[in-house]
Amino acid sequence: MQAYDDSADVGHFIHGKRVTGNGQRNQAVFNPATGARARKLLLGEVADVEAAVASAKSAFAAWSNTPPIRRARVLLRFLELMNKHTDELAAMITAEHGKVFSDAQGEVARGIDVIEFACGIPQLLKGDYTEQVSTGIDNWTMRQPLGVVAGITPFNFPCMVPCWMFPVAIAAGNCFILKPSERDPSASLFMADLLKQAGLPDGVFNVVQGDKVVVDALLEHPDVKAVSFVGSTPIANYIYETGAKHGKRVQALGGAKNHMVVMPDADLDKAIDALIGAAYGSAGERCMAISVALLVGDVADKIIPRLAERARTLVVKNGMEPDAEMGPVVTRQSLERIEGYIAEGLKEGAKLVVDGRGLKVPGHEDGFFTGGTLFDNVTPDMRIYKEEIFGPVLACVRVKDFSEAIDLINAHEFGNGVACFTRDGHVAREFGRRIEVGMVGINVPIPVPMAWHGFGGWKRSLFGDTHAYGEEGVRFYTKQKSIMQRWPESIEKGAEFAMPTAK
Ligand code: NAD
Repeated sequence: MQAYDDSADVGHFIHGKRVTGNGQRNQAVFNPATGARARKLLLGEVADVEAAVASAKSAFAAWSNTPPIRRARVLLRFLELMNKHTDELAAMITAEHGKVFSDAQGEVARGIDVIEFACGIPQLLKGDYTEQVSTGIDNWTMRQPLGVVAGITPFNFPCMVPCWMFPVAIAAGNCFILKPSERDPSASLFMADLLKQAGLPDGVFNVVQGDKVVVDALLEHPDVKAVSFVGSTPIANYIYETGAKHGKRVQALGGAKNHMVVMPDADLDKAIDALIGAAYGSAGERCMAISVALLVGDVADKIIPRLAERARTLVVKNGMEPDAEMGPVVTRQSLERIEGYIAEGLKEGAKLVVDGRGLKVPGHEDGFFTGGTLFDNVTPDMRIYKEEIFGPVLACVRVKDFSEAIDLINAHEFGNGVACFTRDGHVAREFGRRIEVGMVGINVPIPVPMAWHGFGGWKRSLFGDTHAYGEEGVRFYTKQKSIMQRWPESIEKGAEFAMPTAK
């Protein structure tokens, strides 16, 4: 597989075409493995948002009137194209994000799951019907699209997270505007081209690249009816409040600090494998990464030396190398932030068992690499416990029993994902019931729900009422209408002044 080497400027996709837009500002997109500037991103301005909204608005009447099965057929063709071009897309993701190629392929596959789900839209939009709610009267509900909707996405899944949003939104009859992350924007245009090739009418899917200027223009635009956001918690909070203030439906998924509890009866070999994969996979840049291990009883003494050995020997290199287990992090700023947290952890008194800082990969000396880091004796008052680091840093906390583990997790401000490794069915059941987290794994370290189950955290990991994709996603992108109907033959003569009741 060739590394992605397209050096063209990255612009927008409006009304079925790639365009450079109205902006004068631009920003570099880096290849994190080499540290080199790879491409130039053209940052959008308010006028580009205006153009995208006008395009989406003009497409809405015809698209929303297109029978759902015909909309689904366009998505089926898009699905075929995504399957055909998975490796190309994955290589593009590795080149801009840094994650290893097999992980990027996995990201595309999980995005494709949601496209497959959205192809079932005729079934998903089927309403409820009650015959004879009163004599001669029937009542049914239907779900209709909102209009123009927007999605604002993070850097860590440039294909999968947009796929959590747009396939469901457009299948339901909406027109969509995507504002991708500035750090790895190319996947969005690639998917836009495939949608066009699949026969999607111009204007139904648009991409406006940019920063806060574009985000604010979308949040404030009166013709944008809903905004989905995935990113860090402070920005999610801002998006939720600003969008709601402007009368929009908002779903804003935020950051995380995911714990994994290891009980003394767990299969420790499997728990170690799970911790290594979930903490260091994708260089810890997953919102479902495990960043805290809660080791119960004597588990810490048994597994920390083995975790240390594995963390020290991780194969860290350019993600396109077939044996790479971990690639670079996304930007130099991320690298500095992560290594800053490691210094902070040391200062706070945690025991630094493996220090990944300062890693140099031969031939890639300017790449944004840091090795796997492992801390022991982390306590809940430390910043490395409380805050999201979003890098390959695993913090081990020693706890005396199951209850202490549950109390710690429930007291944390985030509630995205969590896992418990045990062989005890009662412990597993109690964990699932008592834990205040949106996505729970029992002996599953990264329990990202499948496409038809919906994704979302609790507490400060999600602002809004509905989760992403699945049936909750369909509800987010549609509004319910109830129709009550009777025919003149069944209407009794005379005006009724009392509240109508079943007769
Ligand atoms: P980020 O919050 O920096 O950026 C997300 C999006 O918001 C980007 O499109 C960015 O351009 C935009 N943005 C950034 N600053 C803004 C501002 N001041 N005003 C308006 N828009 C702004 O997040 P990131 O670094 O790209 O992604 C990593 C974060 O995303 C982590 O916190 C991670 O946990 C979170 N994440 C959460 C989930 C989830 O499902 N809960 C999934 C993936 C990532």
